[in-house]
Amino acid sequence: MKLDQISLLSFLVNNQIKNETGDILDFKKYRFMFDIYTDRSRFMTCMKSAQIGFTTYEIFKSAHQCKNEGIDIIYVLPTADDVNKFSGGKTNKILAQNPIMQEWTKDKDSIEQKQFGDNTIYYQGSWTTRVALMITAKKLIVDEYDRCKPEIVEQYDSRLQSVADPQKAFFSNPSKPDFGVHIWYQKSDEKKWNITHSCGKRFIMDESCIDYKKEIYKCPFCLGEITDEERNAGNWYDKDDRKWDGKLNEKYQWSGWWIPLWIAPWMSAHKIAEMKREKSAEYFANFVAGLPYLNTNDALSMPLLVNNLVNRINDQTGRIIIGVDTGHNIHYVLMNKQGLFYHGYINSIEENEQSERPIPNYDPYDELDRLMQRFPRSIMVADQGGDLIGIRKLQNKYKGRVFLCWFTKETKTKTLIRWGENEEFGKVLADRNRVMQVIVDEIKEKRFPIWGTLEDWTPYFEHCLNIYRVREEQGQEGDPQYNWRWVWKRKGPDHKFLATVYARIGLDRFGGDMAEIVSDAQAFPVAGKQPIIPKKYRGLHNPVNI
Ligand SMILES: [Zn+2]
Repeated sequence: MKLDQISLLSFLVNNQIKNETGDILDFKKYRFMFDIYTDRSRFMTCMKSAQIGFTTYEIFKSAHQCKNEGIDIIYVLPTADDVNKFSGGKTNKILAQNPIMQEWTKDKDSIEQKQFGDNTIYYQGSWTTRVALMITAKKLIVDEYDRCKPEIVEQYDSRLQSVADPQKAFFSNPSKPDFGVHIWYQKSDEKKWNITHSCGKRFIMDESCIDYKKEIYKCPFCLGEITDEERNAGNWYDKDDRKWDGKLNEKYQWSGWWIPLWIAPWMSAHKIAEMKREKSAEYFANFVAGLPYLNTNDALSMPLLVNNLVNRINDQTGRIIIGVDTGHNIHYVLMNKQGLFYHGYINSIEENEQSERPIPNYDPYDELDRLMQRFPRSIMVADQGGDLIGIRKLQNKYKGRVFLCWFTKETKTKTLIRWGENEEFGKVLADRNRVMQVIVDEIKEKRFPIWGTLEDWTPYFEHCLNIYRVREEQGQEGDPQYNWRWVWKRKGPDHKFLATVYARIGLDRFGGDMAEIVSDAQAFPVAGKQPIIPKKYRGLHNPVNI
């Protein structure tokens, strides 16, 4: 086999291959793409900004691979219109510029399929059909992954399981954290473009390298300007700080690339600053920074949480509800109808053993037991996901006071919370997403009193800041009246918030309504003084850091 057949790059260079406007590809100008053109990993993903020439790469890569490796490829794009533009538009223009490639497609060349040599690329709009085509191909490419219909992508993906040594390539402008291409990127080796400044320091070229006032690229160490040559002369390093040498770090299955617009050598800091000013924060994150973004409405923020603080001592009267999130460690919260007044954390057995002075015969559930004794009328609601032995013991010891909570989707009856009766007593079923929404709404509307200071509650708030919601299309089992619903996800530890969900469920039955509405005066009796929120919690709607 000739080198041109093995290496995409040799093929492009040796044959003076041109892009759709007739220019020969120049990898000196395009250093950051060079390594991507040489990446032969079986699983590849890219979180990209717009307008960086990635589509051109995809066309060359898929055509070359189809022809020279002799594999069929399914190429999925969001809509039929996208297929038209991609296959009928851009691909055809590139083929027209390069007779050698046009020769490959002479037997079959339509918008939906193109033959390259003896094999075929099938182009598919994900929203066009209800089911995936019954084609088996060796490789699945999903372009604009975050805009494609998830069920269709899943169908193609699951069908690859029957193929020996399948290949996948998922690319997209990202959208939300832990959604779409961001999931695949996090599974990958997470390569980022590193540059070396004239001061000698090497660093990731992220947004901290942009000086928006002076509209220059700036070294985060010596604060000197970064030249275009330095930006262009970077290298890709993975999350283990290993420099990319053409071979994937064996710890990972997926090869992942993050391409923000500012690593493109032709992109000036002035232009980036202009987009920062003129575009929405969401657009800038997704299409310029190539990062997922959270909308303000879809998450909590520090100011919203702080608004609910009551800087006084809760009298801890009335029925107390203990919400418990079990798991490796135990997180719990205490609340009564006046609001939330304590959050606690219990070490696991292993952590106790590793501590400086381990407690003999340590049982993490003993602390929960002590709470049950300290508050004799209290009720405990715990999740059923963890090691149930401890909770079951408490359930036997404190008859009628300990409940296990199951999350369900009770969309038919619209019941938010259902308490088990008779043989089901001790069990509570709740619609997780809707209960979470209730609590978030209460917090946003300042109807969720939290007793104590910002300092007391900062670790708790950190968990609250990790939850966010996404719109999810409903399957057939969903309520026919609504074809979508909100689903709450997390981007970091959320145990304390979940403990609150359990407590809130308990309060719903055993606490009555939360009587106290927090007013401004109540919240900060000390002359209406607002606590100062530390700087790191202020910009919470910024792009998610990767
Ligand atoms: Zn420097």
